[in-house]
Amino acid sequence: MIIAVDGPTASGKGTIAKRLADHFGIPHLDTGLLYRAVGRQVELNGGDPDNPDDALAACEFADDLLNDPVLRNEATGGLASRVSIHPEVRKALFERQRAFATQPGGAVLDGRDIGTVIAPDADVKLFITASVEERARRRWLEIKGRGIEAELGDIEANIARRDARDMGRSDAPLKPAPDALTIDTTNFDRDAAFVMVREAVEEALKS
Ligand code: C5P
Repeated sequence: MIIAVDGPTASGKGTIAKRLADHFGIPHLDTGLLYRAVGRQVELNGGDPDNPDDALAACEFADDLLNDPVLRNEATGGLASRVSIHPEVRKALFERQRAFATQPGGAVLDGRDIGTVIAPDADVKLFITASVEERARRRWLEIKGRGIEAELGDIEANIARRDARDMGRSDAPLKPAPDALTIDTTNFDRDAAFVMVREAVEEALKS
């Protein structure tokens, strides 16, 4: 069973994907982390994230990098969104994601193009979204919770920029697959959003 979870930044898709994986007892891959590792590796190499050759060279990152907390930073997220524009990078990361998706027993993957490119054959495709304002508020609370000062307005502008880049790129733009279930979590807390999603998945698996 493959469950594809796509959606914009800070929509709650990562938490939902992880909880779905726990619920069904199957492994989970946060594919954004792979793009974040490439973005970080470009920086470590002293390269330019907007240059396709530099970005492709950074796809050779060591697996240890995936555990580096620096990958979670807003700045690394921005670099990830820049390197992810290059088709060369998307191609280099494809096999790893596809192999994870098709492993025996199934898997949950979250990202931007799981239902459209990585696993168009997924059993269930979800597109998790929320308003820009609400996503900015959630990200702001999370950053504040880590003891870091941040301006809500800056975070909102940053999220809007990432959305525009992710939705506007020509290769694998962020968009729901035609057969995806779109779930808007704007007015739901984490637990309520998860219950809604779990019920939708269970219903979809019956048919
Ligand atoms: O999900 P996360 O915010 O960690 O992703 C960071 C960036 O990586 C996104 O803004 C997006 O540009 C890119 N990404 C992607 N395709 C994926 C996952 C992430 O292009 N499947």
